[in-house]
Amino acid sequence: MSVTDLTAAERERILAKAAHFSPPDYVLSDGRRDLVGLSREELVAEMDAFGEKPFRAKQLWHWIYHQGVRDFSAMSSIAKPLQEKLAERFIVGRPEVATDQLSKDDTRKFLFRFRDHEAVETVYIPDRREDRGAVCISSQVGCTLSCKFCHTGTQRLARNLSAAEIVGQFMAARDAYGEWPSPRGETPRLLSTIVLMGMGEPLYNYENVAKAMKIIMDNEGIALSRRRITLSTSGVVPMMDRAGEELGVNLAVSLHAVTDELRDEIVPLNRKYPIKEVIEACRRYPGASNARRITFEYIMLRGVNDSEADARALVKLIAGLPAKVNLIPFNPWPGSAYQPSTPEQLKKFAAIVMNAGYASPIRTPRGRDILAACGQLKSAMEKDAAE
Ligand code: SF4
Repeated sequence: MSVTDLTAAERERILAKAAHFSPPDYVLSDGRRDLVGLSREELVAEMDAFGEKPFRAKQLWHWIYHQGVRDFSAMSSIAKPLQEKLAERFIVGRPEVATDQLSKDDTRKFLFRFRDHEAVETVYIPDRREDRGAVCISSQVGCTLSCKFCHTGTQRLARNLSAAEIVGQFMAARDAYGEWPSPRGETPRLLSTIVLMGMGEPLYNYENVAKAMKIIMDNEGIALSRRRITLSTSGVVPMMDRAGEELGVNLAVSLHAVTDELRDEIVPLNRKYPIKEVIEACRRYPGASNARRITFEYIMLRGVNDSEADARALVKLIAGLPAKVNLIPFNPWPGSAYQPSTPEQLKKFAAIVMNAGYASPIRTPRGRDILAACGQLKSAMEKDAAE
């Protein structure tokens, strides 16, 4: 077997495992179907089965994804009798807002609940310098990867999210900010970028994530450019190539350590895909350039991975890659084993990376007052429910 065959086989294994954690179907208990999350082709097929021509799917797509309309009676280009028939058979769904918290720094954290009562977090992080910001979206309920510094890693994987649930997080966040219809071209909006960096490993739920991103990028709907979407992975090497080829979105890699010994411990996926393989996959990643750099996420843990020697090793590791390094001060949560690096150590580390020619912004912790460390809000809700 060649290396390519092995990668393909591994990819199949990952996809088969993902199917095991499939989300529930999009049919409601009253028999109506949710149209959100269907691909264009599926929407055409659904309309065909309903006795409607393909142009009806095009109309619906515009109302659902460009205008953000949920009520069929507000779809003015569709005749009233048909609006009523559609409402009997379909819905345009959204996750339920279980909690909605606004931080003092304007970071806003939603806990969205789905029909089976599973819930995920979605965070809006405004850019302080401009009228725009990023929506951090979850891809799984819980996570299998157990990264040691991550609160979500303490929660078992309940299931994957469907495409509808992934798109639905962005649509519901847009509802909250009244950002419909969708912007044309590069017009700035508050919700201007998406980072797939919430709960879960997106490449372990690739099919649903890819379908959702294709819906979000579609020119006649939400129309968010691939340059405004960043997929963050812990390094699922066989799926990184596929995501690059099929989606072409920006790539972020949760690196967090420069030796396999340490990364094996804090990002256990490293035992399967060690640092060298992850970096090689980054070098292969299509579309990476100085204009579209690969982001390496590096969480700064006091006395663990934050020495000057670590910084120098990091620079050596990524040499030649169009890259930037996001330094993330650790946001401690109850029971976590780590402490954040001191501000002095952070600055020293950042200076070494910057002097080597890589942007190394220190990401100011946001939303500390609303449990914004990934996974904290969901755990707090479950604790409340148990008491
Ligand atoms: S950091 Fe990401 S991949 Fe790791 S446990 Fe947390 S959610 Fe999962």
